[in-house]
Amino acid sequence: MSNTEMKKVSCPKCNHDNDVKIFKTVNATTDPQFRETLLAGSLFGFRCENCGYEATLRYASLYNDMKNRFMVYYIPEIDVEKVSDDALESEYSELGDVTRRIVGSFNDLKEKIHIFESGLDDRAIEIAKIALKDVVAKRTGQEVTGGYFSKYSAEEGSIGFTFFVGDDSEHLVQTTRIEIYNKSVEIANVYDSSKSSRSFLLINENWARNALYKYKKSK
Ligand SMILES: [Zn+2]
Repeated sequence: MSNTEMKKVSCPKCNHDNDVKIFKTVNATTDPQFRETLLAGSLFGFRCENCGYEATLRYASLYNDMKNRFMVYYIPEIDVEKVSDDALESEYSELGDVTRRIVGSFNDLKEKIHIFESGLDDRAIEIAKIALKDVVAKRTGQEVTGGYFSKYSAEEGSIGFTFFVGDDSEHLVQTTRIEIYNKSVEIANVYDSSKSSRSFLLINENWARNALYKYKKSK
């Protein structure tokens, strides 16, 4: 079951007190409708009943997919240097092989959901993303400011990313063969042989750069 509670949220525009449902946990397995609204971007939506002002609320929420065996803890504005959470660690220490992650942005949360629902390894996805980011930067001669996993085809044996390129953040899709991903799994395992399932970890570009660095040094 998802864990929700009602909270008073005063409207930033008219100060009216609204009763708002807060999602402390989202259970995607027992409440698939919450997964839908989350991915559509409206689960954390706020609409003032008095003046109609709309905003997205930002608060910590734990996403739990029991079927695909992963949890993602969304903590807005998380300190990126912080790689684990002791309180969470003790609360969910009995989870065995459930993959646990921390993310600091809503887009990162959505990306993790897509990766794990596709049955892929997010550590390898981050490593492959760096490699392709460099390819796109070279090809376009422009700075790549960000990107996310956006495509996976088991039949074609390919994965793809959408990158934001140049000053206008133009969207550009770059795909590659699954072999790049498989190689990235190998690199991730050299860096992190326990497969990172023991704790809530922040697996992002920094993590992937450290993994690549260690892999190159071991050669
Ligand atoms: Zn209002």
